[in-house]
Amino acid sequence: MLRLVLVTVAVFLFVGGVRIQAEDSLYAGFAKADITPSVGDDEKPVWLAGYGWGRAATGIHDPLHVTAVVLTSGEQRIALVTLDLIGLPLPTVDLMRERLDEFDYVMVSCTHNHEGPDTIGIWGRTPLNRGVDDEYVKAVVDKTIDCVERAFESRVRVEARFGLAKDDMLIGDSRKPQVKASTMRVLRFQQHNAPNRTAGILVQWNCHPEALGSKNTLVTADFPSATIAKLKRKYDCSVAYFSGTLGGLMAPPRGVIHDEQGVELKEGQFEFARRYGEQVAELAANAIDKALPIRLTPFHISTQRVAIPVQNPLYRTASLLKLVYRQPVRWTGDFNVTDKPVTAFTPKDQFGIATEVACLALGELQVVCIPGEIYPELVHGRIQEPVDPGADFPNAEKEPSVADLMGNSRWMLFGLANDEIGYIIPKRQWDQASPFAYGLRRPQYGEINSCGPESGPIIMHALKQRVEALQAQREALSDHSATGRKLTARAEGTSPGEGGNRVP
Ligand SMILES: [Zn+2]
Repeated sequence: MLRLVLVTVAVFLFVGGVRIQAEDSLYAGFAKADITPSVGDDEKPVWLAGYGWGRAATGIHDPLHVTAVVLTSGEQRIALVTLDLIGLPLPTVDLMRERLDEFDYVMVSCTHNHEGPDTIGIWGRTPLNRGVDDEYVKAVVDKTIDCVERAFESRVRVEARFGLAKDDMLIGDSRKPQVKASTMRVLRFQQHNAPNRTAGILVQWNCHPEALGSKNTLVTADFPSATIAKLKRKYDCSVAYFSGTLGGLMAPPRGVIHDEQGVELKEGQFEFARRYGEQVAELAANAIDKALPIRLTPFHISTQRVAIPVQNPLYRTASLLKLVYRQPVRWTGDFNVTDKPVTAFTPKDQFGIATEVACLALGELQVVCIPGEIYPELVHGRIQEPVDPGADFPNAEKEPSVADLMGNSRWMLFGLANDEIGYIIPKRQWDQASPFAYGLRRPQYGEINSCGPESGPIIMHALKQRVEALQAQREALSDHSATGRKLTARAEGTSPGEGGNRVP
């Protein structure tokens, strides 16, 4: 009798596993397009974004690209897009999505390149001039859509692997408290039935593309182009590079990079960008080579529009001067209310914008989409403790961190995802008013590039709601499916103990 029961259970699990396997086959496609602006027309200068105003491009060093990764499973389709640009506002992403409505989700992220054209508006000839060439942005939208469609057409059946590698020396942090986002996260797609053939690689690293500095005037994709080139040579496949945690303030380490002959390289040199990019590629290769199988199907998507009050007077001014084309919304005190218009009589403390926070569950992988430059403290749960008495809101509650919300699951984080709202700072580390934290005479750099002290708490609480909603979606699956999936995962060799990529 006992034997019969065991056989019945085994058959049930096996059938469950096969059913899920057939339904859940993963397909991946990659495509790329050139989005380098044309430089040389005196009538139409290209204003380089990311530092001060009035930095006109004088030539092109290397091309800028949009790269799309499309993942499909059964009828489900998602697109993950990365562009070598400073950032794209949500209204532009919405234009792309309108034309990609057969996709369940489209995530558009920028590397935050500081050596490409202004696509936000605040880096024109002077602080009063809009720096965006709208025709260029229109062309970028068209090329992105074409790129996503080509990635979809080129998809092949794959198996995925997920890997991590960490190197504290590869990232600099110029703001206290020093917390580094030094974990590289990669997805490697192996062609089904041809395990030696890599169909593509997705790399996610956490560093401002600003190796060339503020004096460079040649268009370049900065260090990620060297990272991609080196990985392509090694693995002979498409590579997509995404920026993750960039805030507070993740940048290349200064003065500690040497070339192959031991010569010290400095920020601002193309050799520095190349060498740094190749070191990032070496760390990625380390993660790729030890990546373990991961199941990426089925896809669950949880996305939310959220309102953020714009307390930063510079941001409000940029909007009033029409440097930034973006319809403001009235801030009501509730971040879930995003549809109240602003009028000429709206007081300035009710001036806000609507943005988007999302979390995806791609099988065993959770993907966090953050619409700006999040501080590593909010990602890794290392918010200043005890609070520095010089900070402006020493009694502010600690926000829930990404690491805490992700628990033991494996995860990735895309920064500047679908929007660029600036720095997302833990509220208890907000420091604009004297006396300043850490006994400093002047405030640290950061707050000037943030919507305000409420951005951190709002984004993190919205993310918490998304994670809970995803959890509810997954619990709604039948016990039968859940049993089958667990079996599939184990059969693929996924070690449950490997779960979670919390940075110590
Ligand atoms: Zn930045």
